[in-house]
Amino acid sequence: SASLFGAIDMAPRDPILGITEAFNADTNPAKINLGVGVYYDDGGKVPLLQCVQKAEAKLIEQLSPRTYLPIEGLAAYDKAVQELVFGAGSAVIQEKRAVTVQALGGTGALKIGADFLKRFSPNSEVFISDPSWENHRALFESAGFIVNNYTYYDAQTHGVNFEGMLDSLRKMDAGSIVLLHACCHNPTGADLTQEQWGQVIEAVKQGGLIPFLDMAYQGFGAGIAEDGAVVGRFVDAGGPLLVSNSFSKSFSLYGERVGALSVVASSADEAARLLSQLKRVVRTNYSSPPTHSGKVVAMVLSTPELRQLWEDELAGMRVRIKQMREALVEKLAQKAPGRDFAFVREQVGMFSYSGLTKEQVGKLREESIYAVDTGRICVAALNSKNIDLVVDAIAKVL
Ligand code: PLP
Repeated sequence: SASLFGAIDMAPRDPILGITEAFNADTNPAKINLGVGVYYDDGGKVPLLQCVQKAEAKLIEQLSPRTYLPIEGLAAYDKAVQELVFGAGSAVIQEKRAVTVQALGGTGALKIGADFLKRFSPNSEVFISDPSWENHRALFESAGFIVNNYTYYDAQTHGVNFEGMLDSLRKMDAGSIVLLHACCHNPTGADLTQEQWGQVIEAVKQGGLIPFLDMAYQGFGAGIAEDGAVVGRFVDAGGPLLVSNSFSKSFSLYGERVGALSVVASSADEAARLLSQLKRVVRTNYSSPPTHSGKVVAMVLSTPELRQLWEDELAGMRVRIKQMREALVEKLAQKAPGRDFAFVREQVGMFSYSGLTKEQVGKLREESIYAVDTGRICVAALNSKNIDLVVDAIAKVL
């Protein structure tokens, strides 16, 4: 008899996870994976931050029962996240116009936001940058939206095609949802200047668009407050705003699935109704978030000495990535003098669109160096021991 699932097609492989599978299968001990979206320290390890270790030690001492959290998450966590995202003491918090729900990483926050928007703005279309994090399109499509691209990257300059971006924004119908990377654009590493953000905010406001800021890398660009400042600028411009944020990278807590969705309403009353609807979305998805990671992050953010330690450790990650950018540019200038890689210095965050072609990426793989077909490399996977191998290999395939 025919099996119920007999006719199911194989789903396409996740392109990034596919790289990791190929990397894992490679027996060359000198292999290097630049395809990942994870920060490694100079020893090539994913760090377990000191601030996290200290918070976890305290939690173990407390030995608390694992009751359910409220649907919207741990109150202390949601409060700490709001202060981080909007700025402690900001008017939007004092006026109780912002609501925050704990979410399963940045992905969970985007999914809650997408499902919520589909209920209350069902006819909107969604616009994501060209290119964007590959899961953006799938997440919003799976929530039932039509997803389009807006112009973003300029391969010629390795930066943002800003006129093209503004043009795209101005052509969108009122009520369109525009997904913007708050900082450290994934995959390109090309960010907007503060001045350009001002023009984007103006276009969003003029066009009656719904901005959704995805902030997965706060603290990896110019600094925690600096990277988050764009959120406050959107709030000041008025209108609705959604912000997803993630601690996967900034706390090195990838597998703990810790992030949040914040939504700004026009009044405290509207915010209360909005929260009740967000809770409904959470309730019908996974009911309530997990306890451990929320407690760790809440404790670190709200305990002054742990907070200071976190800020120092995050600064350490940010500075190391910048050093690797600098080293990559300098070493490539020596080994591949015909090509200018100075743009890598201007890019921000964990990634660089290196300009390497698919064919060149294929040749790198023959040297056991793994990158994404688009030429995206994770600068945070470079270290003082592997960078020369990478530079030599790049020089060879150019
Ligand atoms: N948004 C962007 C732009 C990302 O790069 C990522 C992770 O790679 C996420 C969201 C998802 O974050 P998380 O791993 O916390 O779900």
